[in-house]
Amino acid sequence: MVNVLDEHERTMAFADVALSQIKSLRHPATPRNYEIWYVYATGYNAALNKIINETLARSGKLAEAELEQLYETYLSHLKTTDRLDKVGARVIGEIDDVMNLITDALGMTASYDASLASADQKLASVTDREQLVEIIDMLAKSTREMRDTNRILEQRLSLSKSEISGLQHSLEAIRAESLTDPLTSLGNRKYFDRMIEIAVQTALANNEPLSLLMFDIDHFKSFNDSYGHLTGDQVLRLVGISLKHAITGRDVTARYGGEEFAVLLPNTALRQALTVADQIRRAVMAKELKKKSTGEVLGRVTISVGVSMLKPSDDTDALIERADACLYAAKRNGRNRVISEIDPEYTAQARSQVA
Ligand code: GH3
Ligand code: MG
Ligand code: MG
Repeated sequence: MVNVLDEHERTMAFADVALSQIKSLRHPATPRNYEIWYVYATGYNAALNKIINETLARSGKLAEAELEQLYETYLSHLKTTDRLDKVGARVIGEIDDVMNLITDALGMTASYDASLASADQKLASVTDREQLVEIIDMLAKSTREMRDTNRILEQRLSLSKSEISGLQHSLEAIRAESLTDPLTSLGNRKYFDRMIEIAVQTALANNEPLSLLMFDIDHFKSFNDSYGHLTGDQVLRLVGISLKHAITGRDVTARYGGEEFAVLLPNTALRQALTVADQIRRAVMAKELKKKSTGEVLGRVTISVGVSMLKPSDDTDALIERADACLYAAKRNGRNRVISEIDPEYTAQARSQVA
């Protein structure tokens, strides 16, 4: 009882903080805003609190678009696990129901079998018409029962079939979400790790070229320091959009880490990969950044890109390591540039590491 009261007081305290924030910032008291401020009050989501504190310290308020962005980035995807739990429970429930139906149907078949056997036995010793009619009645009755049971079973199985197909779709949607970065809607690191394994195996098996671009936003820390993390997040979104526009069907793009992205180009040799890399670099640089809420011009961001191409002796790690090393060569050589594994900036450094 004490625990329940403690819990009551603790959660009421969180609710009080949430409501007072909503009041003092004059936000609409919608479930979404309440959730943001309730989670803020609990302090469980350190990243959310950090960004809210930073934004309030910077501008003293949170605009509607910023609340939406905060919710999308820091809260909405946490619901995936909850949804997975619920769908999982329904799948198990449905399987239980179907198992029970099968057990019932098996029982019914066994008893029908038994009545057929007993009729068979009785028929052997039938002496008059009355006995025959009795056996036929018995057979007709159990056949009717069997038919009724089958009809119910059929209806129930058809319901189960549509229920299971609905659950399949839900699971598929959850799976896709668990592989998506909520901020940029690109694939996340887990997605990239899976896709690169498949791409490397396919390229090696078919003797096809495979190139990898790794890129990282230049001086992004100072961008965040100047304009705040929420604006930084908008830039990450924008880079994600430039990336999506620059690539085609078979290419795989992902947010590899904080402000690092990866692009896998199947069936693409180094020279062509360099062209794609430079297109992305130019597209990002071409965008003049404006703050959504105020229209304030924030200038531009640039990216540095490293490009590697799969060798027959490579595994996934070797391909990533070379692209990464090229990326850092690009950083060291002035940023806002593309360096590949055949460029002297990379080869000189690789030689010095071996020596
Ligand atoms: P460099 O040109 O050498 O890459 O410099 P940098 O400042 O970009 O590199 P550094 O690794 O020092 O800093 C990366 C910064 O990226 C740190 C952090 O502020 C920012 N960052 C990482 N993830 C996120 C994110 O999800 N949102 C925002 N807004 N910023 C992020
Ligand atoms: Mg960076
Ligand atoms: Mg970085």
